[in-house]
Amino acid sequence: MVKIFIDPGHGGSNIGAEGNGMQEKDIVLDISKRIVTQLSDYSGVETRMSRKDDRFVSLSDRAEQANTWGADYFISVHVNAAGGSGFETYIWSGDVPEETTRKQGVMHAAIIDEINETDRGKKRADFAVLRETSMPAILTENLFIDDPDDAAKLADSDFLEQIAQGHTNGIVTLYQLDENGSGEVDEQDDDDTLSQGTMSTIQSTLNNRYDLSIAVDNIYGPETESALIKALQRELNSQFNRDLKVDGIWGPNTRRAVINVRRGAQGNITWMIQATLFGKGFPPGQIDGIYGPQTEASVREFQEYEGITVDGIVGRETFSAMFG
Ligand SMILES: [Zn+2]
Repeated sequence: MVKIFIDPGHGGSNIGAEGNGMQEKDIVLDISKRIVTQLSDYSGVETRMSRKDDRFVSLSDRAEQANTWGADYFISVHVNAAGGSGFETYIWSGDVPEETTRKQGVMHAAIIDEINETDRGKKRADFAVLRETSMPAILTENLFIDDPDDAAKLADSDFLEQIAQGHTNGIVTLYQLDENGSGEVDEQDDDDTLSQGTMSTIQSTLNNRYDLSIAVDNIYGPETESALIKALQRELNSQFNRDLKVDGIWGPNTRRAVINVRRGAQGNITWMIQATLFGKGFPPGQIDGIYGPQTEASVREFQEYEGITVDGIVGRETFSAMFG
């Protein structure tokens, strides 16, 4: 059972930011409750909140609640103010494990995907709740209460539901959560939200399309990664007359043989890129073999995370970062 601690910022006498007739403490409580409600549709996850009503809770108390409970992930929900518009996330500016950074990448992308607002970036700061929590922690700043356009959205409950959905999608991806009572997921579901069962679908497709027999266990591990390399080798051989050994090993010959794949591409190589991005925690929206804007955005996220050239094009450098 994964334990998700949701921390609605501020509360009681601490109203947080204000503007356009609204107070941050109310909006973030609303969003947080929606996240908890949405997550209740999934099994294998427990939630706890630092406050469920309008009350003051100190920063240290928030962190301590999560530490005592033994939370797996701490998510602090805020609304921004003073000079700007859009969305940003924070992790602690001190020494954090790689897991914290990776989770920030997944959460950030999932929320941006859902709300489609200005991306102000993945940031770091010495916030008390991030510093004092003993598990990976993130703080989200969801638009600007004092910006008229942002505020109009924050006054719209449908939009708050979308913000919550972005958070929920991120958590579902991170922990591969299954919806309650959905033993079987419709694999042909053309809902554009990737979630539970997607990796199993990828594994079955690899087995069928490339005559492999890897385990269909919904887990992206070395076996699945090797199968994806085999898929790439097979496609390079058949589409580009390469003469690669189909061994599922990322070696110099395969590295030399790859092509540049970019927006506008379609087909099985794009599909395997999308599948790999999904496996690595950079969900591309759909795994449909079409290299569209969402796939490009995931490629950029991945490139940024890997510290390589961020150009949205999958070539030698990006394939190497995926498989090397
Ligand atoms: Zn705040």
